[in-house]
Amino acid sequence: MSVEPAAPPTLSGLSRSTVGQGLYAMAAVVAVICAATVRTDGYVANILMQAVTYAIAVCGLSVVLGLCGQINLAQAAFFALGAYAVGLGTVDYDIPFFICLAGGMGVAFAAGGLLGLSTLRLGGHYLAMVTISFQQILTVVLINAIQITNGPDGVSGIKRPDLFASSQAYLALAVAALAITGYLVWRLAGTRLGRAMRAVRDNEIAASAAGVDVYRTKVAAFAICALLGGLGGGLFAGGFAYVSPDQFAFSDSIVFLTMALLGGVASPVGSTIGTGLLILIPEWLRFLKSVPGLYLAIYGLAVILIVVFMADGIWGFIARLFRRPAIAPSSPIAPLVLKPADSGAPAALEVRGLAKYFGGLKAVDGVDFTVRRGAVHALIGPNGSGKTTTLNVVSGLYRPTAGRIFVDGVDVTALSAHKRTIAGLGRTFQNIRLFRSMTALENVVIGAERGGNTQVGRGHPTLQERARAALDFVGLGARSDDLVTRFSYGHQRLIEIARALASNPTVLLLDEPAAGLNSSEKKSLHDLLERIAAQGLTILIIDHDMTLVAGVAQHLTVLNFGRRIADGDTLDVLRQPDVIAAYLGAE
Ligand code: ADP
Ligand code: MG
Repeated sequence: MSVEPAAPPTLSGLSRSTVGQGLYAMAAVVAVICAATVRTDGYVANILMQAVTYAIAVCGLSVVLGLCGQINLAQAAFFALGAYAVGLGTVDYDIPFFICLAGGMGVAFAAGGLLGLSTLRLGGHYLAMVTISFQQILTVVLINAIQITNGPDGVSGIKRPDLFASSQAYLALAVAALAITGYLVWRLAGTRLGRAMRAVRDNEIAASAAGVDVYRTKVAAFAICALLGGLGGGLFAGGFAYVSPDQFAFSDSIVFLTMALLGGVASPVGSTIGTGLLILIPEWLRFLKSVPGLYLAIYGLAVILIVVFMADGIWGFIARLFRRPAIAPSSPIAPLVLKPADSGAPAALEVRGLAKYFGGLKAVDGVDFTVRRGAVHALIGPNGSGKTTTLNVVSGLYRPTAGRIFVDGVDVTALSAHKRTIAGLGRTFQNIRLFRSMTALENVVIGAERGGNTQVGRGHPTLQERARAALDFVGLGARSDDLVTRFSYGHQRLIEIARALASNPTVLLLDEPAAGLNSSEKKSLHDLLERIAAQGLTILIIDHDMTLVAGVAQHLTVLNFGRRIADGDTLDVLRQPDVIAAYLGAE
């Protein structure tokens, strides 16, 4: 256990965020009061109304794209769902405004979730195309389902709630809605769901290995994004009293996306800045309209320049200028307690008849082995012998062609990767998979958060404390607030181990943890593995370093060409002629 020297009296992380929230609340109240009281002419009021309602929808993109890294080219469609719910509801059916607004948000939420379902099979370009199709289909429906939507004529005479009948009161309502939306989106990043979204954005495979349900997280991100689209659209309809299909076309989805990217997709403040600019720049450039084309050229150039020179958007650029140095943790770090689950089954991990074929290639071909509880068990073999594939099948990244896998006596073969993590498997990767936009601590917190971790909460340390303890256990406690990309290769491997340990696994799976380490790093890795084993954790380790393997493992399984060629006590196995032959050649 290492106790940090007491930090100088500065703002702690907690009070820092309290200060931020206080400032935000003040700014929000001032904005609402200004909207309600400062008189503007109708033209300016319209621009403000558009900017505020658009900014709410753009906040949705900062969830789906900024937090979760998924593309949504249909935000104008969700905006339309909200707008038409308020338009048709208040005009055709005389339903109160707020009920229509809630209904529109509900429909958008459901439609967004539905669109998110397509992420199970699709990613990248394909997902983008599905969202575009959704947008186009909705536009076609709005234009052609004349009986319901009034077709190209749109809906006019949309009513506002009585209390907000005046333009000023209504604008104040919209500003308040934007302020609340911005606050919730801002705080979302620090919640369990928000962390899961960021993990998915940074590395889906690592996220699922850390216990994050990747698919559900994406669906949630789409649904929330669409919900905010619906809210913005509903308020827009009340603001302008008129909606028509051409206001919500594909090109408007692109505008929303540009606003998000321009302002900075990572933050709702960025969303608001981007929206404001994209609506205001054309107004500022109106004096150029006498020269045809010039106005559009300058407008386009301005947008391109901003996007090229401020990759993280305007807010990302500003935020970087004001980034404060990380504060070293001031409170002492409690030692990490590993308390692996024990159902009484003799084997912590059992693999039976495991096979994985890639087309005609039998990467793993009928492998059996049993990892005894509390043992350090090594899986060795030449390059390409199927070790990583075995680990990937065991941890659920690949479905086995045949065979069964038991963790602590429970058959986990049918479970997805994140559920196996919840069932007690923790792992690291041969090619390091960290969440690269996050600090070491944030990476480990995501591990600590896995469902079923009995070592967190209720009488146990909090998530953060558990994560700090895990980082400290691997020797990186003092640097927990550094971005992971600042760490050396060897230290990144240690952060991966800490992330797995923080989840309090029953079995720890390590894929070549010593690869790329220098000799002193290997020495401390050896030491670390012994400290982990001393707490009773079961370890399955793949490595080529025979000194390390022979030093820590009591049991060895040897693979060659996907088949098990030896299995038994380490020293016995290392003496077998066929093992020596597979490793060192026929001599
Ligand atoms: P090891 O970890 O023992 O070096 P691997 O398990 O990575 O070996 O690979 C075993 C064999 O399976 C290799 O021939 C490799 O090319 C092949 N392989 C591994 N993953 C895949 C994949 N996703 N698709 C096709 N072939 C694969
Ligand atoms: Mg490998």
